[in-house]
Formats: sequence, structure tokens, C-alpha cells
Amino acid sequence: MSVFVLDKRKKPLMPCSEKRARLLLERGRARIHKLVPFTIRLVDRAVADSVVQPVAVKLDPGASTTGVALARVEDGNDEPTHHVLHLAEIEHRGKAIKQAMQQRSAFRRRRRGANLRYRPARFDNRTKPNGWLAPSLRHRVETVAAWVARYRRLAPVSAIAMELVRFDSHALSAPKVAEQGGAAYQQGELAGYEVREYLLEKWGRHCAYCDAENTPLQIEHVVPRAPGGSDRVSNLTLACEPCNQKKGALAVEDFLARDPKRLARIKVGLKTPLAGAAAMNATRWALWRALSATGLPVACATGGRTKWNRSRFDIPKTHALDAACVGTVGRVADWQRPTLTVKCTGRGAYQRTRLDRFGFPRGTLMLGKTVHGFQTGDLVRAVLTKGVHAGTWRGRVAVRATGSFNIQTSDGVRQGISWRYCAILQRGDGYGYAARSPR
Ligand SMILES: [Zn+2]
Repeated sequence: MSVFVLDKRKKPLMPCSEKRARLLLERGRARIHKLVPFTIRLVDRAVADSVVQPVAVKLDPGASTTGVALARVEDGNDEPTHHVLHLAEIEHRGKAIKQAMQQRSAFRRRRRGANLRYRPARFDNRTKPNGWLAPSLRHRVETVAAWVARYRRLAPVSAIAMELVRFDSHALSAPKVAEQGGAAYQQGELAGYEVREYLLEKWGRHCAYCDAENTPLQIEHVVPRAPGGSDRVSNLTLACEPCNQKKGALAVEDFLARDPKRLARIKVGLKTPLAGAAAMNATRWALWRALSATGLPVACATGGRTKWNRSRFDIPKTHALDAACVGTVGRVADWQRPTLTVKCTGRGAYQRTRLDRFGFPRGTLMLGKTVHGFQTGDLVRAVLTKGVHAGTWRGRVAVRATGSFNIQTSDGVRQGISWRYCAILQRGDGYGYAARSPR
């Protein structure tokens, strides 16, 4: 994993290799600035006397995981080579947020109902402001924006690239394409990938004939190619391999003779083009606005292009490597490196009362969050010389009022370690960290 480097005034320099960082630390030319992501600070150099190269933060925003890649961009080319410096995956906690808010709303509803049984319903005059996002979605936008800001403090970031839409709807609606009924869109290497993403979005990611999900889907010609069916998107749908094989060169009317409802649905679906708005993802646009506000140039790309890049560079599929493949890239280099997984954990609950499943109080948490100076989420090291826990343990701590802590190490939880043996390595920041080796 690359090591982030700051100068003596905490201005970011180009990240360096682990070996170089080790030498700098051994020779006393640098100090450890931050443990995760590992960052060192030079003691004798200011940014003025060192040259930085352009670095791009590349993002592949997802519903549960966002891939992040930092890449050095080789200049002077329309399709530059991206040298990967750092890979990370941010695991979001939208589900946990949604669950907590639903629980809170249910508890409040019960309490209101308990005391106000005969109150008439209130006039429904509440509206959501324009551009409102649910808290679980806003968390995604804010977390990613916060991490981009963090990377800007650690590396000389000069540009941002993100995957904004799944496919290039502009190309599908461009006049030249429209007049040929989408046929032009089938030409060129990249086009096939965009069409695939378009079909996935339009047909809902399942087989059109048997509704099979989570299986590789093939592009299916409704009017088969043999009797002259065209390659236009208005003749394409998605089918699983067995259905595709079974249908073969049969006409769709014969193939679905026993299922007239499905046949009618497919025929209607073929005629209706996917509305541009349907493929737009409000959360991604909100993220795009948040990133544009940083003042850095934000390049937008399509999911089709990401997939095309990934397959032509022969790179395996992970969220972080998808991020590395986002945008107009000539080559992706140095991608065989570990990925930092960043799990959003939050900073604990505001609510101090524990409730049973009916919403009645069951007990209370301690009022303060710190115990002997430790807080849940801090990265600690515990050194024990005797007893069942003898050894050195490093990980995220969960505190108890008794001073007997749990430590989440890379291989399981060590329970009941006294605070006396613990030392803080890095304060909790709402994330849990782990490193994953390249596959
Ligand atoms: Zn099928």
C-alpha cells in the first residue's frame, strides 16, 4: 500500500512506497502523522522545494459500497495512463440508519397514540424541500464527500472523476442515432457495453422470460437474427442462458404462446424507450453537486465505459478497481495492490435508553461516552504479559463502564481486557478499518 506523505507544514506531497517510508522513518527524516490511512510527515522539507504530479480521486458510487481509487495521471495524452496509488472501499451504513429511524418513528407513534387517543388527525401540510434526500442516502453523499476532502489533505489531488450514470443516455437520444432507430449505437467497441447497461436498467436486471435474477444475463434478440431481426435496442431484451438457448430461432409469439400476458408486456416494453430520468440516480447527482462545490474539475463517466475499460485491461471486478477504471483512460497501471476497507460505523447512538421490542425502557447506557479516557471506536494496542489474553492485541475498542473492554482484532474479538493494558493509537473517527490483499 502506498504511504501518504506530508511536508513539515502538513501540505501533501506525492505518496511514496512502504520501503521509502520505512527508510525515512528510520533515518529520522519523517514522523508518523496518521496510522490509517498510513501517513508520514517529513520533518525537513516544505512543499515549495518539491514537485507534485497531477493526482485524481476516482469514484464508483454504489448503494452499499463506494469504490475509491487515487491515481497519478500521466500528462500529455487524450487517453492518459492512470498509475494507481491507493485503493479503498467505503462500506456505507444506510441500512442501519434507515432501521434506526424506522424504529424511532415507531416508538414515537406508540407514545403519541398512548396519550392522544382521541385527537383528530392533523392537517397534512408538511412537504419535503426540493432536492431532499432520505437520511440514509444523504449519509452516502456526505461520507464520500468527506473522504474526498480527507484525501485532498493527504495527497496533491488535482481532479475528481466519478461514475455518474449507468449508460450514455445522450448517445442513445442523439439525433444521428435516433434517425437510425438506435442502430448506430450498436457500432464501435464501447457501444456494446453502453447498450448492455441500458438494457439492464430498462428490463430490471432479470430474465425477460423466466424472471431469473442474479444469473448472467445475455442480450436476447426478440425477433431472432436468423429471420432478419435487427440489432437495434428496440429489438433487444435480456434473458438467462437456458431461456436464450431454449428460444433459439423461435419467434417470440411461438415461444411465449402459453404466456400471453408476458408476451404483451415484452412487446410493450420493446416499444417504450427508457426515459432519461429513469436512469438518473438522485444520490449520484447530489454527490456530483457536492464534489463540484470543491472547485476541482469533476469528470463524469458512464458505467458502460467503466465495464469496457475493466474488461479490455483484464482487471478483476471489485468496487475499488471499478473506480480505477472510471472515465477516459488509456491504461491502468499498478493496480495489483491491497485495498483499504473503510466501514462506516458511526460514533454511537444519541439515545441513551435501551428499549425492548415494544418500545418500553429496558435499561440505560452510561451517560458519558468515555471510560478512563477511551471511547468506543478508538484504535488501541493492548500488551498483556500473562493470563488467557497474553499477547499484543491491536484493534478497535468497545468500552464498558467497568473498564473491561473488548478489542476487535483482525482475527476476532478479545473480550474483557482491562483498560490498564490499553494504549490509544488513533482516536475513533466513525470508521472501522481493515486491509484486503489483492486477489
Ligand atoms: Zn430465463
